[in-house]
Amino acid sequence: MIEMKGVQKTYRNGVTALQGIDINIEQGEFVYVVGPSGAGKSTFIKLMYREEKPTQGSVLINGHDISEVKEKLIPQLRRGIGVVFQDFKLLPSLTVYENIAFALEVIEDSPKKIRRKVMDVLDLVQLKNKARFKPDELSGGEQQRVSIARAIVNNPKVMIADEPTGNLDPETSWQIMKIFEEVNARGTTVVMATHSKDIVNTLKKRVIAIEYGRVVRDEQRGDYGYEA
Ligand code: ADP
Ligand code: ADP
Repeated sequence: MIEMKGVQKTYRNGVTALQGIDINIEQGEFVYVVGPSGAGKSTFIKLMYREEKPTQGSVLINGHDISEVKEKLIPQLRRGIGVVFQDFKLLPSLTVYENIAFALEVIEDSPKKIRRKVMDVLDLVQLKNKARFKPDELSGGEQQRVSIARAIVNNPKVMIADEPTGNLDPETSWQIMKIFEEVNARGTTVVMATHSKDIVNTLKKRVIAIEYGRVVRDEQRGDYGYEA
């Protein structure tokens, strides 16, 4: 469902962050993206939701080249791809409820339907009781659970995360991983860049390792492969 063919990404400053990338991720897979800092992991992730475009080659989602998507249709593309960030990126002036409702494609939903969808995802991340809170009234782990709820409220086929546990303590990180596994068990493809040796070596999944902008390893149930 996610395919990169001959992908190269060279930024405007001349840095080639990725080159010769050929990968294929099937619907329902759970994939870790690992590698040293500066290897190209974030760039790899950004190409998947059209935050960046490849300089060469193509990124296909369900057979569609997402580089070809017109500017005005990018929001629609992004709604089909849930994205989770290390720093949560919640809107500070909105409540938990509103942060999630804001991500919904409101045009076609009745208020009742919106409410049900938001409360359903809040239930999944166990934050129904904090729907009226503002982000700064929540712990880091709770904020990350809100951002996951926001990412999946449109029922995307794929959830992409860039170091989602990077700012969290180990115990909170495991809670987040439980939610990721739950989301994946419901059929959503999960792609997650991570520096957590513990997580990768414990919850075994496919591992794609990137070094100097190239895929150097791609293994089912792989190891982290670096010192933590
Ligand atoms: P990682 O996520 O593995 O740390 P990145 O994809 O962030 O790696 O970065 C890969 C390389 O691309 C690094 O050399 C980084 O400095 C460079 N890079 C990342 N983003 C940009 C950008 N917007 N403009 C220029 N260079 C960038
Ligand atoms: P339950 O189904 O468990 O009774 P509710 O649907 O009543 O849960 O709501 C749980 C929490 O979410 C409550 O704190 C409620 O006030 C809050 N909430 C529900 N809908 C909204 C909304 N539209 N805006 C803000 N907060 C809401």
